[in-house]
Amino acid sequence: MAQQKTAALIGSELLGPDTRLLSLGMSDSDLGFIGGQYIIVDSGIVIAGDKIAKRAYSVISTDKDQRQFRLAVRRIGNGPGSNFMHNLRPGAELKFSGPWGKFTAEPGIEDDNFICATDTGITAALGLLESRAMQSMRDRTRVLWLAESDNYFLPFQFVIEKFNRIGIRNFSVVKVPPIADSARELRTQQLVEAVVAEELPGRAYLCGDGAVAYMAQERLVSLGLSLDSIRIECFFNNPQRKAAAA
Ligand SMILES: Cc1cc2nc3c(=O)[nH]c(=O)nc-3n(C[C@H](O)[C@H](O)[C@H](O)COP(=O)(O)OP(=O)(O)OC[C@H]3O[C@@H](n4cnc5c(N)ncnc54)[C@H](O)[C@@H]3O)c2cc1C
Repeated sequence: MAQQKTAALIGSELLGPDTRLLSLGMSDSDLGFIGGQYIIVDSGIVIAGDKIAKRAYSVISTDKDQRQFRLAVRRIGNGPGSNFMHNLRPGAELKFSGPWGKFTAEPGIEDDNFICATDTGITAALGLLESRAMQSMRDRTRVLWLAESDNYFLPFQFVIEKFNRIGIRNFSVVKVPPIADSARELRTQQLVEAVVAEELPGRAYLCGDGAVAYMAQERLVSLGLSLDSIRIECFFNNPQRKAAAA
């Protein structure tokens, strides 16, 4: 069974109509995360099937600091997990497990990186980019963030300032049709194509909408990139989960 950890909410900020930035302090140990990983929050809320709502949130702050960390959470309708995170009061204790995940960089890799994040997936990309392992690779990293509007999640300016501060020079933040829009597939395909056609990366990190991530993976593999050079973190629309549930 996963070990439960706790952190306290030490600060928060609303960055948009549905976006909350949370600063957390570890109660009595280091978090022990590598940039790009996530934690699984135990909301304590009972949902259908007599289960407890436990939800994943990627750490967006640098792994140089293991005592305090930041999360950014978009409220998804009446969803139990995201509303729990939006309603946490200062001082409240957050129970979680982790860190988890393999969406991390290997230090010492000489390849050029391509990071494609959609929607809330920008959190995993930010955590990865902020990581110690990525530090020497940032000038060899192209980043594409696709989101439906400036107030969908983290404001574009917030993310652009972060890119500038950590030395990411080759990035694009592009508006795309909303998740359920039928025009989204073609538009996201065109945008990914434009980046990979320019120059094939040696390594790719794809996160957020699973439909976009797997489309990009297929294209990269068809151009010659090996599967083990590609890391994927699906936040939603995970085709593998859908297949397992079918
Ligand atoms: C590895 C991982 C890391 C994640 N990191 C973050 C993060 O840093 N910040 C963050 O806000 N969310 C993140 N998520 C999404 C998060 O775990 C929850 O799924 C989300 O908060 C919704 O939970 P809920 O209980 O409020 O709604 P639910 O009732 O569980 O979800 C309602 C529906 O919305 C879909 N959905 C979930 N997330 C999104 C989304 N972002 N956009 C559109 N539809 C969505 C779900 O698939 C579901 O169908 C991450 C998910 C994963 C798997």
